[in-house]
Amino acid sequence: MLYSVIVAVTKESLIMKEIRRNTKQQQIILEELRKLTSHPSASDLYQIVRKRVSRISLGTVYRNLQLLSKNGTIRKLDMAGREARFDGRPDSHYHIFCSKCGKIGDLNESPIVITGSVLKEADGWKILKHRIDFIGVCPECWNSFDTNNV
Ligand SMILES: [Zn+2]
Ligand SMILES: [Zn+2]
Repeated sequence: MLYSVIVAVTKESLIMKEIRRNTKQQQIILEELRKLTSHPSASDLYQIVRKRVSRISLGTVYRNLQLLSKNGTIRKLDMAGREARFDGRPDSHYHIFCSKCGKIGDLNESPIVITGSVLKEADGWKILKHRIDFIGVCPECWNSFDTNNV
């Protein structure tokens, strides 16, 4: 009887310890992501986070990023067949992709103005949301930009 109580208490505190560890890991992942404006992939972020949490795995980083993007704390940028990228900024803003170096930037001013509302249906499709991304040349690449080479 006493033994099983001790086992239960130990098990309980192990679970609490595990939860605390997971929360701490998630906090660190979020903290490191928010320091960056580069929209890193899970593996990019893993390389950074593991400097603070040496025993963390890529799977854990990925799982936490998924959770955080599902609950709206961060944003996940789907990259059409390439590794997804993550954004510590949850507010709605446009992204621009550099056609030279592949960098992803945030646009604080919108290059377009959408007037009117988006249709709910078109060509037999139900429209759930829309997404607009821009492609351009980042300030660093612009300095060495050759207009004949677009
Ligand atoms: Zn660039
Ligand atoms: Zn962004």
